[in-house]
Amino acid sequence: MRKKVIAGNWKMNKTLAEANAFIDEVVKKAPTSDDVETIVCAPFPFLASLTEKTKGTTVHIGAQNMYFEDSGAFTGEVSPVMLSDLGVTYVVIGHSERREHFAETDESVNKKTHAAFNHKLTPIVCVGETLEQREANETMTHVEGQVKKALDGLSNEQVADTIIAYEPIWAIGTGKTATSDEANEVCSHIRKVISAITSEEIAEKVVIQYGGSVKPANIDELLAKSDIDGALVGGASVEAESYLQLVEAGTK
Ligand code: PGA
Repeated sequence: MRKKVIAGNWKMNKTLAEANAFIDEVVKKAPTSDDVETIVCAPFPFLASLTEKTKGTTVHIGAQNMYFEDSGAFTGEVSPVMLSDLGVTYVVIGHSERREHFAETDESVNKKTHAAFNHKLTPIVCVGETLEQREANETMTHVEGQVKKALDGLSNEQVADTIIAYEPIWAIGTGKTATSDEANEVCSHIRKVISAITSEEIAEKVVIQYGGSVKPANIDELLAKSDIDGALVGGASVEAESYLQLVEAGTK
């Protein structure tokens, strides 16, 4: 059985003091169950402190982005080498906010996914359609294209270790969640796409998360679905109490 993976994405929120207080509480109260992977994706300035505080615990720290080169003249960028060196183990790649506001493309997503594996970081690759695409019945073809381009050139083993986060853009931060059936339909299509480019055995190993207005009140129903293996959560992951409830749901 696939493990449930709950990842909080704070986006551009919190001060260092707030980040530290959150992680102290989560480390104290996070479930120790092997059934759930507990991940907090935090802004770059907090990562060193958070990885230090979570050393030897069941809480894992992720970044929300990175550049694909190891080092060099790329002012303002952060490399996978730097993240690995800090003890970061996950990295969100191609979040729709980065695609929309920071010119992230399927090509850069693919390069970053390769770079993550080159530095022992697990990529959480985000895909998802706009409202216009959904209404035009283009959801499956759009998401299929994003998945294929993101995974291009990876070995089967790397594909098996990739986390895909299906996040319909119209459901992010809007309070509108896809119904659990709508979400599962796309997640199961993603698994079929992965099966076609690798094998059924590999596709069965891939963790596929749903994201978009997930909260303690709706996570159980989403996680009960056949192809939803976890959640990438923004708003409801910012407060420790709500985040802990989400992680707890992953142990059920
Ligand atoms: P949300 O964000 O939970 O606030 O909708 C999800 C995300 O952007 O990953």
